[in-house]
Amino acid sequence: MLATLRSIAEAVSQQADLDSALACFVKMVKEAMQTQCCSIYFADYSQDNFVLMATQGLNPDAVGKFRIGFTEGLVGLVAQREEPINIAFAKSHPRFKLSPEVNEEGYNAFLSVPVVHQKKVLGVIVVQQKLARVFSPDEESFLITLSAQLASQLAHAEIKEVLRLDEFSHQTSVLKGVSSAPGIAIGQAFVVLPKLDFSSIELQKDEDVSTQRKLFTQAVAATRNEFNTLSMTLSDSIPKEALAVFDVYQQLLDAKSLGQNVEAQLQQGWSAKSALKIVIEKLVAQFNAMQDPYIKERAVDVKDIGLRVLHHLVNTEYAAKPYPQDTILIASTLTPAMLAEVPKGHLAGVVSVNGAANSHASILTRAMGIPAIWGIEDLPLLQFDGKPMILDAYAGRLYISPSQSLHDKYSQLKYQEALLNDRFLAEQDLEAITLDGEHISLLLNAGLEMNTEHDNKRLCDGVGLYRTEAWFMQKGQFPSQSDQEHWYREVLTCYHPNPVVMRTLDIGGDKVLDYFNISEENPFLGWRGIRVTLDHPELFLDQLKAMLKANIGLGNLKIMLPMISGAEEVEESLKLLEQAYFELEEQFPEQAIERPEIGVMLEVPSSVFMLEEWSQKVDFCSVGSNDLTQYMLAVDRSNARVAELFNPYHPSVLRVLLKVAQECQNHELPFSLCGELGGDPEGALLLIAMGYRRLSMNYASISKIKFVLRRLKVSDMEHLLQQCLIQPTAKHVLRLTRNFMIEHQLGELFYTPSQEHT
Ligand code: PEP
Ligand code: MG
Repeated sequence: MLATLRSIAEAVSQQADLDSALACFVKMVKEAMQTQCCSIYFADYSQDNFVLMATQGLNPDAVGKFRIGFTEGLVGLVAQREEPINIAFAKSHPRFKLSPEVNEEGYNAFLSVPVVHQKKVLGVIVVQQKLARVFSPDEESFLITLSAQLASQLAHAEIKEVLRLDEFSHQTSVLKGVSSAPGIAIGQAFVVLPKLDFSSIELQKDEDVSTQRKLFTQAVAATRNEFNTLSMTLSDSIPKEALAVFDVYQQLLDAKSLGQNVEAQLQQGWSAKSALKIVIEKLVAQFNAMQDPYIKERAVDVKDIGLRVLHHLVNTEYAAKPYPQDTILIASTLTPAMLAEVPKGHLAGVVSVNGAANSHASILTRAMGIPAIWGIEDLPLLQFDGKPMILDAYAGRLYISPSQSLHDKYSQLKYQEALLNDRFLAEQDLEAITLDGEHISLLLNAGLEMNTEHDNKRLCDGVGLYRTEAWFMQKGQFPSQSDQEHWYREVLTCYHPNPVVMRTLDIGGDKVLDYFNISEENPFLGWRGIRVTLDHPELFLDQLKAMLKANIGLGNLKIMLPMISGAEEVEESLKLLEQAYFELEEQFPEQAIERPEIGVMLEVPSSVFMLEEWSQKVDFCSVGSNDLTQYMLAVDRSNARVAELFNPYHPSVLRVLLKVAQECQNHELPFSLCGELGGDPEGALLLIAMGYRRLSMNYASISKIKFVLRRLKVSDMEHLLQQCLIQPTAKHVLRLTRNFMIEHQLGELFYTPSQEHT
């Protein structure tokens, strides 16, 4: 059964277009289930009906024409119930609707399952048979499994269809994602090349055969050169016989093997990339089908060669591609390095297919004030390239090829946004004080965006979180102690005399060092933060010593430990800090080395229950609400699929944050918060109501939060908090906070323009 399932999925994925994929699907399912009819219907949400897309057994002329309403017939019922229907006599079911145009009169047995992707019914698969019988549980589960496999392929196809329509009709298309950094961007798409694989190549026609042939020939020549260089480099270190593999590779590249086959596809009008994809996938399938294990293995070589040629093909196309003036950067998974490559002033917005709003690359876009959305449905990325776009990162929407009227509306909204921002900036030098006179210390989250964040030092009361790992991530190896010392001293000097809370290396999770491989099934529950550095005291001591030395003569350093979950970690860290201190004293007796204050991050729920004990050992704590939310709600912060569940306004998270404030006050332990929640106006006011007086945030948020604070009273925030704490869901909490903001004339902060256009 598993082999059949696999072969159907593989065959479907190898089809050039949706129609042939569906035709292949129904044919194979009919054969595999030894039945007489298999059909597939697609939901058309613009007309509220299902359209017959492919069939083996019904009238083939009805394909693409026959439609049945969402609430009609058995097909409609399967979709409404979102569960299979398995009956022996379809005609005797009260919901049966006779549709003469499809010729289904002869069939009795009826098994149908919905195709559901992310809670949305995309279509319905139906299997029918003349013999009146109930399909077996095995047959039912076979079809359910197939439908689940098909669902993501169809979701992908649905988006492709949106893009295709956009191409031909010049209509605006809209795709949805999750907002991660608010704002509006109007610009042109620049797609960062995904990791190349044939599955990411969309089949496309290109009638200019001679240009496509030239591209292919150049790519083959570049691949030959690559093999020559490789074989020369390896000639000293590997035996001659092994080098023969390169001759085989060169032969495979010859006109007689690859060339002729590709030429045949080019003649049929396929682009060079598509022709190569068709040929390589066919060859791979042929090799895979061989019995002889040696020959079978050649499939890997063929694919490798194909990918190398593809790499050159795509690179030639992209080599000279400049970033547009208003770049909307589109990536499969955004990384900080991709952001860094866009020339200054060219980056207008960011769209990442994978990842989620709380991953570190996403936090970086927020820190840079660049509108961004994440978690857009799996996309044929390259098809976007160069298209005009509007990114509405308030509502998580991406408009492709926007109409002139949409463009005008968004230009106007962008202008209003700029006016509001000017109002924030006009007050940025004023004190962060509430209407009833409470001073709130606003600190900076720094380290991620090192080029410009220092410009904002006068706006904040110091650095509440310096993410040291970001600098480590840019290096090709662990930086030396003296390199680190130099860097930390620059940072400490920059903010002096204000304090800088430096966090020790927090790698693992979605923060990876290219030169220190951590690959785990469950990285956020694995070797992360303090766990890594305590297992590598040599790295930890190096970093601590560099920090202590950098602080000599300045005295504004505080050290913070990430991901603390137990008392042993606190003890061990303090011990290593003492060791670093004593060793430095011994090494530099003439220097006045200070013992800095040391604090812990409250990110793991267990830490919240240890504050009484830990208040005796450490000098301060800071809530990392990003991770605390992740671990409280068991939601991977960088997984787009569960992004909607990541919500720090969940009443349980609010209650824990309140508990931290109360415990810290009881035990006189200074506390602050440095997660993204503090930079969100609604989050900030709830935290202030809980008793937080130190909030650390990215610099793009500081002027906004100051603006909000100066218009509110703590007593009003406290009243709001009391109501929020008793709400059943995050949605209810946010409804209250939004109303509160509107009542206090701060509603303009939440203008979500796209509601007008959808
Ligand atoms: C946090 O978890 O809230 C935090 C500030 O740390 P990071 O986002 O770097 O994990
Ligand atoms: Mg964290």
